[in-house]
Amino acid sequence: MSALAQITLMEDCLFCNIIAGKIPSKKVYEDDKVYVFEDIKPGAPTHVLIVPKRHIRGLKEAQTEDAEIIGYSHLIAARIARERGIEDGYRTVYNSGPGAGQSVFHLHLHLLGGRGVSWPPG
Ligand code: AMP
Ligand code: ZN
Repeated sequence: MSALAQITLMEDCLFCNIIAGKIPSKKVYEDDKVYVFEDIKPGAPTHVLIVPKRHIRGLKEAQTEDAEIIGYSHLIAARIARERGIEDGYRTVYNSGPGAGQSVFHLHLHLLGGRGVSWPPG
């Protein structure tokens, strides 16, 4: 893909636009690496999305250099769960590919909790 095509893709990306503040969101946390906000259609009392600021299409496309941000995103999720008092049980999820329900192609970790979360998921 040409550099120009890559830039166009990112301008079209919903989560890049949310991170840039061009589309409103309910911010939960932000630092230089991640932007965290409330899911617009929550599936649990806590349902937040931990999104790397750098555009990565999804877990399938992640490279070795993305390992740190993937681990870091999980630690942020654990901290938010602690702060919200939902440590009795919560779930972190990457939906990977349309067959698993991935609908936004900018890597994002779901944090779901505040209610019982059954296993296996549907
Ligand atoms: P996934 O289906 O795993 O790609 O997750 C995408 C998530 O983004 C879904 O849970 C949506 O409800 C959520 N979502 C879509 N648009 C927005 C938005 N504008 N603000 C917050 N969350 C959104
Ligand atoms: Zn993006």
